[in-house]
Amino acid sequence: MNLPRIDIDSAKIADNVQQLTTLYGSKGIKIIGVTKVIGGDPAIAGILVDNGINILADSRIENILRMRKAGIRAQYMLLRSPALSQAEKVVAHAHISLNSELIVLRELSKHALKNQNIHKVILMVELGDLREGIMPSDMENMVRNVMGLKGIVLIGIGTNLACFGGIAPDHDNMAELSSMAVHLENKFNISLDIVSGGNSANYHWFKSSKDVGRINNLRLGESIFLGREALCREPIPGLFTDIFTLVAEVIEVKQKPSKPYGKVYQNMNGEIPRFKDLGLMSRAILGIGQQDVLVSGIVPKQDVAILGASSDHIVVDNDKANLKVGDTVTFDLDYNALLRGLNSTHITKKHVNYQECQEVL
Ligand SMILES: *Cc1c(COP(=O)(O)O)cnc(C)c1O
Repeated sequence: MNLPRIDIDSAKIADNVQQLTTLYGSKGIKIIGVTKVIGGDPAIAGILVDNGINILADSRIENILRMRKAGIRAQYMLLRSPALSQAEKVVAHAHISLNSELIVLRELSKHALKNQNIHKVILMVELGDLREGIMPSDMENMVRNVMGLKGIVLIGIGTNLACFGGIAPDHDNMAELSSMAVHLENKFNISLDIVSGGNSANYHWFKSSKDVGRINNLRLGESIFLGREALCREPIPGLFTDIFTLVAEVIEVKQKPSKPYGKVYQNMNGEIPRFKDLGLMSRAILGIGQQDVLVSGIVPKQDVAILGASSDHIVVDNDKANLKVGDTVTFDLDYNALLRGLNSTHITKKHVNYQECQEVL
């Protein structure tokens, strides 16, 4: 199998989906599977759907198209607010979108009418994180306007926290979302199917809430694929945190000094690097670099330390591991490293335990 490579344990993905469905379902919350970190990989999306997820959400239309073309049957939600210039595509390919701009909603309405279909929308509310969202005081007006648009139907409201400002979902902001849903339903005599409280950062709020109010939906990526919550990045008990493993090959091993010698100028990253002189050491070079993964987001599973990286190479301290040319080194990946790695065309993806997984289903 070509290297570098990311091994993907399909059976563990299935298990995490089942566990999260049960956990959140215990208080009436349904989960949406967020596929952006896997670039809309149809094989993985298929596992989510086979394990009971019926809405798949992605921030990119191209990823949604990839899954739809592969025949993965689900409702598709666009996560990133549609761009005005994208409206036609959004209506054509996504069933649901998250919105905060009236001008865009009007454009979605126009294209939905033209194509004679109904596009579902969720209005996003700003609750302090300061990325996308309508200010709470503008919500009534927005709902009134949206209800006047043909071709689109308001199916819910939602919010997104812990992404830009690192603001935690808590009892106050979740209660605000909840009471806003009730208020809008009463005011306009409508019913909101979806009240979407957030993402993988909502775990602690969920665990510490007896009553989750009107919140009946979360959009989960990191918890499904990395088995953890996104506020402190702690594992969720019972979930697998080792679904993905990066594998790279050793291409050079030599005893060399620990400190570069000659006149020091900028390296390829534009930095003037400094190294301590620790005498001679065993150094190994791996055939993988910045172009392939976010090197700061990977952690070796073997006893080697990353000394530095350039576009196509990672240099590691090989004093303890005693690697040889042709050996492989394995790494855990954080969310951003996974995002880059799985979307890289230079990294092979290999499903392990895929057969077993299908048999269990
Ligand atoms: C990425 C994203 C999510 C999923 O976030 P995770 O922390 O991976 O669960 C949810 N909602 C929106 C709007 C997103 O962009």
